[in-house]
Amino acid sequence: MKGTIYCGACGSRFIIVNANNVKGRIYPYFVCNGRHSKATSCTRQAILIEDVERLVEKYYESIQISGEMRQSLAGMVHAEFDHLLAEDSGELESLAKERFGLEEERLVVLRAHYSGAISLELLKEEQMRIEARLDDIKGRLSAHHDEYAAARENLDDCLTLLANVSLIYSRCDNQNRRLCNQAFFRKIFIDQDREVRVEYQPSYEALCDIEIQGNALNWAEQAKKKDEVQTFSRVETLVEGLNLAHMG
Ligand SMILES: [Zn+2]
Repeated sequence: MKGTIYCGACGSRFIIVNANNVKGRIYPYFVCNGRHSKATSCTRQAILIEDVERLVEKYYESIQISGEMRQSLAGMVHAEFDHLLAEDSGELESLAKERFGLEEERLVVLRAHYSGAISLELLKEEQMRIEARLDDIKGRLSAHHDEYAAARENLDDCLTLLANVSLIYSRCDNQNRRLCNQAFFRKIFIDQDREVRVEYQPSYEALCDIEIQGNALNWAEQAKKKDEVQTFSRVETLVEGLNLAHMG
């Protein structure tokens, strides 16, 4: 629990303080460190850790996404990746072409050297230039490939987690809950009225954004319609074809 929980009133960290009741039982509380150390003029009251745990559990329930949402988000973001990739495809094509040209050139300078047209020194110079450029191209092509593959994989992992997050969190022990909190949130604020506010980690910020989730549902709806239209026009063409065949 410790570490990611912050005071919603002044933004200071929560620290743990143990209080004893009359029977000697220990109650661990969260208190605002700003108030505790008088670093801020915060008047935030202490809150039982147990209560904070329940609030955070509830919050996880609220961010879990449905199967439909998961599919819609996946569809929309993968389509965006496809779009970006298509935009880059011109550059990729010209890199591949250049690589091919350089490989040819490598042979040409070698032949030129053997036929006595260029000196050994110039051959070496040319070879170094060609190799350096080939290395550069190789690096750019593979970075490009890795970037998209990693982004797609990361997206799918995040969505799988989000679709099951409430169950996962409820089954975690304290240590894993802490890891879970750190994976999803940069900060969890507990407000004075016991509302939870969060700052997401970058991977989850967009996926948990209500507006983006709404867009994803719309996107999926449109995609479905487009599919239906395409299917319909295929059927129409088929029907027309049959009619013509019949009339003929
Ligand atoms: Zn505070």
